Amino acid sequence: MPIDNSSKRDIRALDLEALRAFFESHNQQAFRADQVYQWLWQKGAHSFEVMTNLSKATRELLDASFVINHIAVDRQQRSADKTIKNAIRLHDGLTIESVLIPTETRSTACVSSQVGCSLDCTFCATSQLKRMRNLNPDEIYDQVMALDSQSRLYFDRPLSNIVFMGMGEPLMNYKNVIMAVDKITAGLGMSPKRITISTSGIPKMIEKLADENPKFQLAVSLHSAREEVRNSIMPFSTSFELPILLKSLQYWYLKTQSKVTFEYLIWKGINDTQMDIDALVAYAKKVPSKVNIIEYNPTDAADFKAADKEVIERYKQALERARITVTVRRSRGKDIDAACGQLANKLVPLEH
Ligand code: SAH
Repeated sequence: MPIDNSSKRDIRALDLEALRAFFESHNQQAFRADQVYQWLWQKGAHSFEVMTNLSKATRELLDASFVINHIAVDRQQRSADKTIKNAIRLHDGLTIESVLIPTETRSTACVSSQVGCSLDCTFCATSQLKRMRNLNPDEIYDQVMALDSQSRLYFDRPLSNIVFMGMGEPLMNYKNVIMAVDKITAGLGMSPKRITISTSGIPKMIEKLADENPKFQLAVSLHSAREEVRNSIMPFSTSFELPILLKSLQYWYLKTQSKVTFEYLIWKGINDTQMDIDALVAYAKKVPSKVNIIEYNPTDAADFKAADKEVIERYKQALERARITVTVRRSRGKDIDAACGQLANKLVPLEH
C-alpha cells in the first residue's frame, strides 16, 4: 500500500533551532539536530536512511515525522554551445527550469525563484506563465546542487557562479531566497560574491535587502531610464518610479559598498534613440554602477526586434565616455529556449 506522506512536514522547512526542539521533545540530545542539518544542507541527503551516524531508531523517528521533498530533473536539453536546460519537477507536480551555462573558465547556474512570475514584462516568455507559487529554500538549494553535479559530470569542475535569473522575481520571494543563499554559501562553501540576485527593481525590497548586510551582488533589470518607456515594456514598474528605484540603489551602495549592475536590452523603435542613451548615462551616473547590455532573445509572445549593432556600439561608447563599465553579453542556449527571458516550460526537440 502506498504510504500517505501528505500529513508529514517537510523537514527542510525547519531551521536548526526548531530541529533541536524536536529532538529535545523526543528526549534525544539536541546535537542530533546538527548532524541531521549537515546531512540535509551539506550532503544533500534525500532520505533518512543514508544518515548513517544516527541510530536506526532515530532514523525511524524522523521518517515517521517528516518527509524530505526533493526535486527531480525531468528532462535535460543540451544546446550546441553546451548550455544545459533542465526541466525540473517539484514535489507537487509543478515544473520549473534551471540552466547550466559553461564558458571556458566558468560554470554558471541560472536558477528560478518562483513557479511562473507575477510580473508583466512584455518581452519575457516567463511572464506569460501564471505565478503559481514561491519556491521553498530547499527547492532553490536543490537546483544548485543538481547543476553543481552536472557541472562536475560534464565539465569536470564545480559551479563557479550562481545567478537568480531564471523564472520568477527573487525579491517577491524574499525570505526563501535569502535563506537559500545562506544554505548555498554555508553548504557548498561558495563565496556569496559569486552569487547575483537579479531583480526587476522593487525599491522597498532593495532597501530591506541592503539592511541585511548582504555579501552577494545585485543586478537590476532596467531596460530604460525613461519613465514612459519603462512603464510601457514593464507595466508593473508604474508603481516603482525611476527616481524611487534610484534612491533605493543609492541606499544599497551606501550600505554594501557594492556596485549595482544594470541589465539592459536594446530594441528597435523602443529604446534605440540618442535620448534613450542619454537617459541611461545620466541615470547610471547617479549611483556607482556597471551596465550589462544583454542580447535580446526572441520569444513567441512578443514581436520585439533587437536593435542594430551600431546602436549597441553607440550605447557602449557613451557609457565608456562617462566612465561607466559596460559589458555586452552574448546570449547562450538560444537554440533550446534556455536563454534569458525564454524560460516558459517549452520543449524544443533537438538532438545534441
Ligand atoms: N525577475 C528578475 C529575474 C528574472 S529575468 C529580473 O527581472 O531581473 C532575468 C533577466 O533576463 C532580466 O534582466 C530580464 O530582463 C532578462 N530578460 C527577460 N526577457 C528577455 C529576453 N527575451 N531576452 C533577453 N533577456 C531577457
